[in-house]
Parts: sequence; structure tokens; C-alpha cells
Amino acid sequence: MNQKFTIKLKIELSFQPQPLICSICGQPILGNQKLTLDHYIPLCHGGLDEASNLLPAHAICNSIKNGHMPDEFEKQKKELYQQALDNWHIKRKDKLIVENALKNMR
Ligand SMILES: [Zn+2]
Repeated sequence: MNQKFTIKLKIELSFQPQPLICSICGQPILGNQKLTLDHYIPLCHGGLDEASNLLPAHAICNSIKNGHMPDEFEKQKKELYQQALDNWHIKRKDKLIVENALKNMR
């Protein structure tokens, strides 16, 4: 994991004027929400630690997607978000992200 590179990319993203869109749930990432970089193809599936494979995502969405491949995640998205909502201890502001993501999937 190239930590320095990831930090640099995070800083660049955080200075972009438009609200960034979470690549996982499609909602904007607001200033008070934690920004992470999602490995589109997960590292555990051979994804690379480089800009072309890194997309902005809410920390909570990134945790929900975890090591899923994009296509398999897409199929199970609703279940995974629902499971997180039902079973995880989620902070209130993250809960809103999860609830809205679920609403958008209906
Ligand atoms: Zn999200």
C-alpha cells in the first residue's frame, strides 16, 4: 500500500470545488462525511493501488462494499446495505447515508 500516494490523492480530491460523488452509493460526499478511496477492483482480487482504480467513496459505503467485486457487489448491494443498517453500530450521520442509499435503490 503506497500510503504517501493515497494521502496525496485524498488531499487533491478534498480540494475539488464540486461536491465529490460517492462511487458506491451515488450520493454527494459532504464536508462533514468521511472521504475514503475505494479500490474499484479490490486489492484482494488483484486490483491495483493506483489512481485509475481508486474512486472517492463514503467511509461507510467503502466498509459495506468491502472486498466485493463491482459486479457481485451490484447484485447484493441492497442486502448488504440493509444488513449494515440492521446489524452494525453506525453513527447517526453514517446511518443517514445508508438509509438514503437504500431509498434510492427502491
Ligand atoms: Zn456512499
